[in-house]
Amino acid sequence: MNQLSSRVYQNALIDLSHAFGRYRLGKAGHPKFASRRDGQSFTVDSSNGKVLLSAGRTIKIPTLGTFRLHEPLSCSFVSQTFTLSKEGNRWFVSFCVDAQRLPMRQRESSVGIDIGVKSFATLSNNQVFDAPKPLKQAKTKLARLQRQASRQVKGSNNQRKTYDKISQIHAKIACIRKDFLHKLTTYLAQTFLRIKIEDLNFYEFRRQLEYKCKMYGSQLVLVDRWFPSSKICANCGHKKDMPLSVRTYDCPACGLSVDRDLNASLNILNWEPKAIGG
Ligand SMILES: [Zn+2]
Repeated sequence: MNQLSSRVYQNALIDLSHAFGRYRLGKAGHPKFASRRDGQSFTVDSSNGKVLLSAGRTIKIPTLGTFRLHEPLSCSFVSQTFTLSKEGNRWFVSFCVDAQRLPMRQRESSVGIDIGVKSFATLSNNQVFDAPKPLKQAKTKLARLQRQASRQVKGSNNQRKTYDKISQIHAKIACIRKDFLHKLTTYLAQTFLRIKIEDLNFYEFRRQLEYKCKMYGSQLVLVDRWFPSSKICANCGHKKDMPLSVRTYDCPACGLSVDRDLNASLNILNWEPKAIGG
């Protein structure tokens, strides 16, 4: 314990007390033991108030020293508390800053979004966003390393090194996915005043949209999970079964022929919540 600033331990205990607090209020599950094999992180802070971080490729962290950064700080910041975390073999630092939000540009009114299998997101204005595919090269490399690890002596230093390489590749793929999702949700929250998504959309997408819509002053509307967005014709309201393999909505009633996901996003756009009691 004498190797690190006492604030590291204090901050860990503060976090633990918050976790138990949330558990007692029923907001979260019982805190779990974090093994040193899982993601590691700790928090340090400056005991004499906020410190100045200058722009550039290095960062001076209170009680720890100066470190080189992979991504340079674009301008100078003032902050007090720093959290360091390790993913794969890479270290990250995060800290809070006071900043003023830039004024918003002119925004489009409403959009419906269908989250699909073929494309990640299809917008009712016909914009399509495809999720990044884990690079083929990375997949081949992963397979090779996994074979290598299985041949190595269990628990040996060499096997540990191979596992480190594997976790680096996994971390890189996770970063690419994370980057895609954050850029998409920021774009959506900044571009549209009213965003409609289905209630069932996957948790992280919805979580990011929820807080970013609040941040940028747009409205997130959750469409009823029983609403059959893919079965209805967006033009005339005809309803028919649409197995997942059918990629085009061909309407027998009005003759509309449109991409399945675009049709669903238009229905999501046109959906309105029923008045309570109505
Ligand atoms: Zn129709």
